[in-house]
Amino acid sequence: MRLGIISALYEEQQGLVEAMERPYKLIHGEREYWLGQLWEIDAVCVLSRIGKVAAALTAATLVEKFGVTHILFTGVAGAGDKTVQVGDIVVAESLVQHDMDASPLFPRFEVPLTGLTHFPADHRLGARLMDAAQSFLDNDFEEAIDPLEKAAFHLSRPRIHRGLIASGDQFVNDREHINGLNAALPGLVAVEMEGAAVAQVCHELGLPCAVIRTISDNANENAATDFMRFVKSVAARYAFHIVRRFCLETEETIVQASSEAAGV
Ligand code: SAH
Repeated sequence: MRLGIISALYEEQQGLVEAMERPYKLIHGEREYWLGQLWEIDAVCVLSRIGKVAAALTAATLVEKFGVTHILFTGVAGAGDKTVQVGDIVVAESLVQHDMDASPLFPRFEVPLTGLTHFPADHRLGARLMDAAQSFLDNDFEEAIDPLEKAAFHLSRPRIHRGLIASGDQFVNDREHINGLNAALPGLVAVEMEGAAVAQVCHELGLPCAVIRTISDNANENAATDFMRFVKSVAARYAFHIVRRFCLETEETIVQASSEAAGV
């Protein structure tokens, strides 16, 4: 297994690169790819930057040039439904490009010539991420987040949701826009700007992918207020601990599977 880990923003990934053993940096196509071991897992960390094209280029490069076998995207997102709150965690079940609209030639949201509106995320990776997120909330959350930040963002009992994530080349900060997307896309849990592009690349190249996001805002008029503070003081900690738990758990699964295969 070689795990590609993509984030859009520097702060979301800084801690992971610092935690890498024997890190080695390669620059390609204006991006820094960090190769090394993360909690015994062979990994490549990279910042995609923001938006679908940036994310698609990064995902394809991870596969074609760096030989990753699985892709994980970690980052922040706006809430896609009233039941989802700032500080909650969402894991993608599937992903849609909400700004794709070639109607009337193709149905709204369908990516032409793929026959798909929704691109699936890998079920097993998603289940492991749900477990990692739950362990994070149960064991790390209390200590990892400063009490002042918990109070500032009203984080008391964060929840985990699994569902549809919608991506588009827009920072959604308008109540009508998010309500319209929620109505048009049943099961929507979050909006962001990269996940569905990565899911399409992984689907077409036949690679399992997973997307996990911490909810940073409500995708309404207040979405940009305190956005960077949240990313630095809350989401960066979530991403670090969840990926750590995901890697530790994955390593255990790999060791178990290989000892079973060896008949031990
Ligand atoms: N202020 C940042 C820009 C962030 S763009 C800067 O100056 O660098 C928003 C990033 O967070 C994107 O990577 C996107 O995936 C995610 N995101 C968070 N909330 C979002 C929202 N309401 N709409 C769209 N993307 C959102």
